[in-house]
Amino acid sequence: MPAVIDEETQALIDGPIAEPVLKRHAIETHALPRPETTVAPVAVRWKYAIGIPLIHLLACLAFVPYFFSWTGVVCAVLGFYVFGTLGINLCYHRLLTHQGLTLPKWLEHTFAVLGVCCLQDTPACWIAMHRIHHKHSDEQPDPHSPLVNFFWGHFGWLMVHNREFLNVNYYQRFTRDILRDPFYMTLERRGVWLRIYLASMLVFFLAGLAIGWPLTGSYWTGVQFGLSLLVWGVFVRTVLVWHITWSVNSITHIWGYRNYETTDSSRNNWLVGLWSNGEGWHNNHHADQRAAAHGHTWWEFDVTWITIRALEKLGLATDVVRPRAWKKT
Ligand SMILES: [Zn+2]
Ligand SMILES: [Zn+2]
Repeated sequence: MPAVIDEETQALIDGPIAEPVLKRHAIETHALPRPETTVAPVAVRWKYAIGIPLIHLLACLAFVPYFFSWTGVVCAVLGFYVFGTLGINLCYHRLLTHQGLTLPKWLEHTFAVLGVCCLQDTPACWIAMHRIHHKHSDEQPDPHSPLVNFFWGHFGWLMVHNREFLNVNYYQRFTRDILRDPFYMTLERRGVWLRIYLASMLVFFLAGLAIGWPLTGSYWTGVQFGLSLLVWGVFVRTVLVWHITWSVNSITHIWGYRNYETTDSSRNNWLVGLWSNGEGWHNNHHADQRAAAHGHTWWEFDVTWITIRALEKLGLATDVVRPRAWKKT
């Protein structure tokens, strides 16, 4: 039996409906101050202000030949799909935030752990931030509108405290449906999500060591191979997925075309649409936020939607929500 969701949470999930654009015109944008929910005076969120540059620095080890292996590169590319597309796009965003589909709990939880390995905070925190973004998009108190400035929308907003996200006691009111599940409540316990990320680092390193050592007969070559998987499969991939997610927040609220007359400044951007595996068709998404497909026309290529269709054909994804625009045609 589907869980009963209170009205306030249901409104966050459904969102408003937007009509198709009848005539293309330049949309007016306005400068926006920092969200009024930002803690004043500005308080640096040290966990992010140190963690984000640190992971970037570790990813730069990819330029050192010692840490290179082609297997590492393959791990980064495959990991971009496995962790970024399945974990963030499909699970955190289209499934948990917008309920565009349903998966068996074991698969939903597995994908949620993949999302945790992208170091984008816990599912409940991510979902709360994103639901507030949809509710107040490009207005106060949207946590990451690029109308403040591009860098604020891209990552600046992560570096300072916002009273809505200080801890789960603050953001639980936006995610009551999620936090009913003890699994997501466990991820809120102090440091659990960070320990999962650290464990993923260990898994990549040890897998490389376990393969490289017996294959080459040299312990130190095994260590080198393990480190190459760690640098490429974890650090490079984390940075790649970060900038892809962040570019949806920044670029697709500034540059691109619009299919729908939404009240925000969201756009469809083909570059972001392609490199994010479908999240860049962002104006479509703001116009119909529950739809599990973000590409609404045949040429708006959406790898995440193709994945959802495949899961549906396998009988794993159910209650898949199609765009309203498809039902009309
Ligand atoms: Zn948006
Ligand atoms: Zn969304």
